[in-house]
Amino acid sequence: MGNIVAIVGRPNVGKSTFFNRLIEKRQAIMDNMPGVTRDRHYGYAEWCGKFFTVIDTGGYVVGSEDKFESAIRDQVKLAIDEASAVIFMVDCRDGLTGFDKDFANILRASKKSIFIAANKADTPDKTLLATEFYEMGLDAEIFPISAENGSGTGELLDELIKTFPEEGIEDPNAGIPKISILGRPNVGKSSFLNALLGTERCIVTDEAGTTRDAIHSHYKMFGKEYILIDTAGIRKKGKVKEDIEFYSVLRSLRTLEESDVVIVVIDAERGMESQDVNIISLAHRQGKGMVIMVNKWDLVQKDSKTADKFKKDILDKLAPIDYIPIMFVSVLEKQRIFQVMEKAVQVFENKTKKIATSKLNDAMLPEILHYPPPATKGKHIQIKYVTQVNARFPSFAFFCNLPQYIHESYERFLENKIREKFDFDGVPVRLIFRKK
Ligand code: GDP
Ligand code: GDP
Repeated sequence: MGNIVAIVGRPNVGKSTFFNRLIEKRQAIMDNMPGVTRDRHYGYAEWCGKFFTVIDTGGYVVGSEDKFESAIRDQVKLAIDEASAVIFMVDCRDGLTGFDKDFANILRASKKSIFIAANKADTPDKTLLATEFYEMGLDAEIFPISAENGSGTGELLDELIKTFPEEGIEDPNAGIPKISILGRPNVGKSSFLNALLGTERCIVTDEAGTTRDAIHSHYKMFGKEYILIDTAGIRKKGKVKEDIEFYSVLRSLRTLEESDVVIVVIDAERGMESQDVNIISLAHRQGKGMVIMVNKWDLVQKDSKTADKFKKDILDKLAPIDYIPIMFVSVLEKQRIFQVMEKAVQVFENKTKKIATSKLNDAMLPEILHYPPPATKGKHIQIKYVTQVNARFPSFAFFCNLPQYIHESYERFLENKIREKFDFDGVPVRLIFRKK
């Protein structure tokens, strides 16, 4: 189960400022990518080697203070349900407000770990004001922070990551590929799942997932067992449009954290939308395997170039991510649905395989010799050897004399060579440069 942290609180306390600070480093690269919307409200963060998905609930809350009951209340409840920890943000300069107390009342009932971030404590005298929030009577520690200058945020994050489960322990399903189906509403996720499961008689068990409507089906195909995580039914949850949108994002984030491989379904008539790009870029940063399934291909007027044009459009939007297999499917006509699953299983295998160091060096060192890293600042850069390191997804350590001088373009060259020599279709590949 993944770590999802929700930031809740009334408008203007500094939620998005804090959110941006958390995802800053990692986001910078992605924000330069075409097709990626900047007004993202979720992202991937790291603190002391622990990774978590963080969601700024403020980005989804449309109501103002007077609409608290209708809009924010529901969303906060959803966030609390889905998140593993909640950061409740208040404003030291404004002090305790009635609106804060409303939030506290909702949070009080939850069993999740709650951290009160008393924001805008930019100076020590402001820090003293934070104690006022104990009046809310929440069973939670108060951390005076400044989202703007960063003070106090380290202490908060230190405590936050302590609530995360230790990695790599007691997952009864460890080793079984977990494949999920994600995508915007109406792209055909449930139809796809029904088509898959309906025709197969070898479903092993159905068990309720971690939340009410996530179904984990154990399933057998190509002689292997795997788990399909189904997010269908998301729509039933919310009452109003914003809630539905918000909830479907929360569910997708949670599902993503749990999955090894995600099948991102898009509607052929609508093409790749910015939400799809956002989910894929998040999956990329989390090191997940991916397959893009373009569904409803039956509805598209086709000639011999249509598929290629479609592919190009997707790749343009995803650039520089270019390693994800794209499949054209009609669930309605049962076209290629099993090939998608077969691909997903292959991607899982790519994600988990280990290349022997000798094989890796035999393949890569001649390439490096042939096209060595260009000298930087008059310094000769030498890569001595490469080895695959243990990680959640394929990661390669290159040992060299001056790791800090390896250029992004050269890194790209090495990644392409690795992909050329070894099949890593559908999985992110990480390169690490170490001094030797
Ligand atoms: P949100 O509505 O909760 O997401 O709040 P924002 O992040 O948009 O911040 C609201 C305002 O508070 C903005 O003008 C921020 O610049 C300001 N702000 C955020 N964090 C701090 C802080 O730590 N100190 C001060 N002085 N201002 C802050
Ligand atoms: P979900 O919200 O992603 O689970 O989407 P559904 O499975 O409920 O499908 C939404 C609509 O698209 C339904 O009316 C389906 O019958 C339709 N649909 C699903 N797959 C296809 C397809 O391959 N071709 C066409 N023409 N319609 C499809």
